[in-house]
Amino acid sequence: MLPFTMLDLGTTLGLVFGLFFGHYLVIAGGFFLGFWVLGRRRLAARRIQQQPLRSARPGRELAFSTLSIALFSVMLTGLWVIDHFGFTRIYWDVADYGWLWFVASIGVMALIHDSYYYWAHRFMHHPRVFRRVHKLHHEFHNPSPFASYAFHPWEAIVEVAWVLPVALLLPIHPGAFAGYIVILTVLNVISHLGYETYPSWIARWFITSTHHNLHHTRGKGHFMLYFNIWDRIMGTNQHDYEAMIEAINERAKAARKSAQQPQSEAPEAVRV
Ligand SMILES: [Zn+2]
Ligand SMILES: [Zn+2]
Repeated sequence: MLPFTMLDLGTTLGLVFGLFFGHYLVIAGGFFLGFWVLGRRRLAARRIQQQPLRSARPGRELAFSTLSIALFSVMLTGLWVIDHFGFTRIYWDVADYGWLWFVASIGVMALIHDSYYYWAHRFMHHPRVFRRVHKLHHEFHNPSPFASYAFHPWEAIVEVAWVLPVALLLPIHPGAFAGYIVILTVLNVISHLGYETYPSWIARWFITSTHHNLHHTRGKGHFMLYFNIWDRIMGTNQHDYEAMIEAINERAKAARKSAQQPQSEAPEAVRV
């Protein structure tokens, strides 16, 4: 006899999808509203691509992200089933390993996922895989926050596959996993923001919006998720990346200065 009912299964699937989709919608929608709608004029100098916003396709990004989240939810519910049979090391009582491990496990998951993502992403760029699968994510040359999970269904499955060995080998609390997913979504949304908000020095060590935006426009190099480590080791960073982020920050600084100048001192607008 199964250690759960079909009703439990349906409720778990519904709950996982609801939480995953809900937090994605709030985070991606919040950044979209803040930068693409309300901050559109004020933050114009921080836009990575200066082309018109209408080249973006947030509706299609949202549709494919919803599909990916549905697949993630099915796979995570599958993990819940495996856990019921006692095959995972998932634990439900924080006291079993303490709060220190609870917090540290989030960092460990980030490191594992980051390396996994680099090589999975390179695999996605193999010409045969790219044509059939990953091309969909690269349809979005001018990505918006809603593109964060806009993948082909096969890619969505590859994206979440790292969770299985982690759950089988490491003691992970569901709360730590949920916390990690929220961090992943926030950083993933920032990578697809289309606006650069980080200071230039970060570019050397961490993935920025410019880093991932260049991946979308050029379709090569820049495969990482969080840390600028594997891209540097493997020489897959674009040579002008750091200069580009520097240029955007300079442009934003100049725009801020000119906005602060009194009207009488401001240079006359050039007519074209
Ligand atoms: Zn790619
Ligand atoms: Zn992307």
